[in-house]
Amino acid sequence: MRDRRVAIAPGATIGMLGGGQLGRMMGVAAAQLGYRCHVFAPDDPCVAAETCARFTAAPFEDEDALAAFMGTCDVVTYEFENVPVGPLAAVGGAPLRAPVRALEIAQDRLAEKRFVADLGGTPAPFMAVDDEADFTRAIEQIGTPGIVKTRRDGYDGKGQWRIMSPRDAEDANLPAGTPLIYEGFVDFLAEFSVILVRGMDGEIRYWDSAENEHSSGVLARSTVPARPDIAAQVPAARELSAKVAEALGYIGVLTLEFFATAQGPVFNEMAPRVHNSGHWTIEGARTSQFENHIRAICGLPLGDTATIVPGVVMDNLIGEQANGWAEVLADPANHLHLYGKDVREGRKMGHVTRLIMDAAA
Ligand code: AMP
Repeated sequence: MRDRRVAIAPGATIGMLGGGQLGRMMGVAAAQLGYRCHVFAPDDPCVAAETCARFTAAPFEDEDALAAFMGTCDVVTYEFENVPVGPLAAVGGAPLRAPVRALEIAQDRLAEKRFVADLGGTPAPFMAVDDEADFTRAIEQIGTPGIVKTRRDGYDGKGQWRIMSPRDAEDANLPAGTPLIYEGFVDFLAEFSVILVRGMDGEIRYWDSAENEHSSGVLARSTVPARPDIAAQVPAARELSAKVAEALGYIGVLTLEFFATAQGPVFNEMAPRVHNSGHWTIEGARTSQFENHIRAICGLPLGDTATIVPGVVMDNLIGEQANGWAEVLADPANHLHLYGKDVREGRKMGHVTRLIMDAAA
């Protein structure tokens, strides 16, 4: 028998840690289901607050502010995985979904790779680099090309240095005193993600996996369906993702990113949250990642994750690209989402989801 715990009924308040576009879109989904969201974020103003009923602007380390915030919430979730875990654990209060363990692991590339490898997954070869000697050893054992990454706080390709040759390694000017990881460069056919939702009763549902194309380390495009040679690797990637979700007692939407390689799926990283490569689900799936995340953390029945059109392409609007919105809207196949941010080079400003109704197109 499944354990169906008491649902948090519509009308309740969902706390949200983080103030970015993921929170903004989660706020819309929550409002649709009759919930109010209370955002807690250090940045004031923030784009999530614009779709949510309440906003507390305070640093994540401010335990008094966090405790007061928790006191207003029936359940708390996060849209940003670098929320410091210490203060959160210290204040307690409303249940945190997904669990704090998922945050702890996803915040540290080394912990994440070890965790997934212990569950039978295959990450790129990796070694911890805490000083020059570690780096020399890593280059000797793993070889080049490879990538040095900060263990913490890296996102969208930030905090990464490509080491193409032993010469690059000699010339590398790595940040001193920052815990790093060195990983071998994966010769991949393509990149894809598994996005799943796990309910409070342990039920897991998956959306179709998108093929993801990055530009300078930032997601540029997600396409569904993925090419057949990628799709063939999805079952193994899903099996691993389910093991991760179960090992964490996960509740909510969880994303794992993979490289499709000639040897099968290679795990890259996980995000304990809704994901940019799942934005297409707003129009392209029967239930979006945002709605199902809200359903899961509130203990409601999960919605159908099936794709409802023959194909979908989601393009991120980065920096100035967002100024082309009039042209985007002129095409009836397009759905435009703008995040209400000031234009800055390299910044994710919005996305366009294009529904492909003719499979042969
Ligand atoms: P990450 O922040 O780790 O997801 O890295 C951003 C992007 O850099 C990935 O989506 C890949 O396109 C590329 N990348 C990261 N790590 C590797 C690797 N070990 N081998 C090849 N490409 C990588």
